[in-house]
Amino acid sequence: MVSGSDQHGTPITIRAEQEGKSPDEIAAKYHQEFLRSWESLGINFDLFTTTGTSNHAQVVQDFFLKLLDKGHIYRGSMTLPYCPRCQRYLPDRYIEGTCPYCSYQEARGDQCDKCGKPINPAELIEPRCRICGGTPHSKDSEHFFLRLSHFRDRLLDWVKEQSHWRQNVRHFTLRYLEEGLKDRAITRDIDWGIVVPQPGFERKRIYVWFEAVVGYLSASKEWAELQGEGKKWTAFWQQGSKSYYFIGKDNIPFHTIVWPAMLMGYEGLNLPHDIPANEFLTIEGRRLSTSRNWAVWVPDYLERYTPDSLRYLLSVNMPETGDTDFSWREFVRRNNDELLATYGNLVHRVLTFTYRHFDGCVPTPGELDGASKALLDRAESTLDSVDASLCHCRFREGIKAALSLAQETNRYLEEKSPWKIIKKERLACATTLFAPLSVLSCLKTMLYPFLPFSSQKLHHLLGFKGLVEEERWGFHTLPSGQRLAPPEPLFVKLDEQVVAEETSRLREKEEP
Ligand SMILES: [Zn+2]
Ligand SMILES: [Zn+2]
Repeated sequence: MVSGSDQHGTPITIRAEQEGKSPDEIAAKYHQEFLRSWESLGINFDLFTTTGTSNHAQVVQDFFLKLLDKGHIYRGSMTLPYCPRCQRYLPDRYIEGTCPYCSYQEARGDQCDKCGKPINPAELIEPRCRICGGTPHSKDSEHFFLRLSHFRDRLLDWVKEQSHWRQNVRHFTLRYLEEGLKDRAITRDIDWGIVVPQPGFERKRIYVWFEAVVGYLSASKEWAELQGEGKKWTAFWQQGSKSYYFIGKDNIPFHTIVWPAMLMGYEGLNLPHDIPANEFLTIEGRRLSTSRNWAVWVPDYLERYTPDSLRYLLSVNMPETGDTDFSWREFVRRNNDELLATYGNLVHRVLTFTYRHFDGCVPTPGELDGASKALLDRAESTLDSVDASLCHCRFREGIKAALSLAQETNRYLEEKSPWKIIKKERLACATTLFAPLSVLSCLKTMLYPFLPFSSQKLHHLLGFKGLVEEERWGFHTLPSGQRLAPPEPLFVKLDEQVVAEETSRLREKEEP
């Protein structure tokens, strides 16, 4: 699991110019923020690096030279937007204009946010300079081009075979390829980025869309070096392993077309196995915008709420097949009526009752009856189905299956009512509790990828030492006699007040 922050994207240079800092400083600051946010949300990478390392530059230059050597990159002249008032060539994102495909008026020079298509700056209708608002001129400049057009047929055949891809990702890519592929320039007249390893190009750089995707490979190599086994990356890139790319839908063509074409050209490296791109998440019915501060910021969120409440909502409501919405009302409702009512209360009820009546230990059951066996079977089959959902990147399906097991366990308890028989039939009561206690241990395992903090807590409450992630994924009943930890609630109920407070906070902070 490797990734990193992109140091060379134009948002970085635009921000640096606004704040009067160097792109390096800006990139480092955001990188640290990302690291802190990932950690506090329980998102773990084997390596989360940056594209600013010398390792990355080296891997990119090797990629470039190999593609050049094989004729997949060629030298050509390009007419570029030049702002006479600013006296500079304008990088793609420094130009805005009308999208030639969908007529969206605020399309950027690299991509249209509305229809998602990559764009060459020259294609924009009524282009304008983002710095001064003036109209850019055209000026010729020499650049390197990636011969994407050559790969179109191979890509088309390959994508047609990928029947396991999400429909939206596959359809978008096929439509795109059917319209034909244009060669694209991969260098720019800028001074921030990776040096072009060719004489005469000292004042130009390799453009970010070409080099950022190489980051997956360079990060794998860096990870292997850090492991002290420099060749270990080959297990993931040259042998039979499946690679998954987790991205948002605005990045689809770079991962389903550009990067696979580069890999085909380079030869000997694995193509992506799956690219389960998510659609967009809106906030309170509107498009998220960090520049206008229509956003929920992770550090701000974590001052008041737990990571698992957010992780639950984002998992159960993930925009896997279409856009979905985050609202504070939904946040409170999902936390209280689902996470807490179905799962948290189940855990608390079973653990407090067992702890009180069985000396704080997992009781020794008598012979299990049909209903108890059926519940344990259901837990085992749910574990398998969650496993399959995770492998196919169907996360909503996975977490819903786990929650429905919790619901089934609640029904079992209602029927069996162990609290009614504790006084008279102690052994029957112990037998009744044994199955739900073991289900809790299974729930902890299958929910760990979604809710790592509460799973870890439940692991501890069930009397285990150590970390959930050290356990194997699998079905086990709890050992009788295992000492439980004193019960504590897994989740807290959120006040309805939160809805009004947070929505007004969001509106107050919004910038025009
Ligand atoms: Zn468009
Ligand atoms: Zn200008």
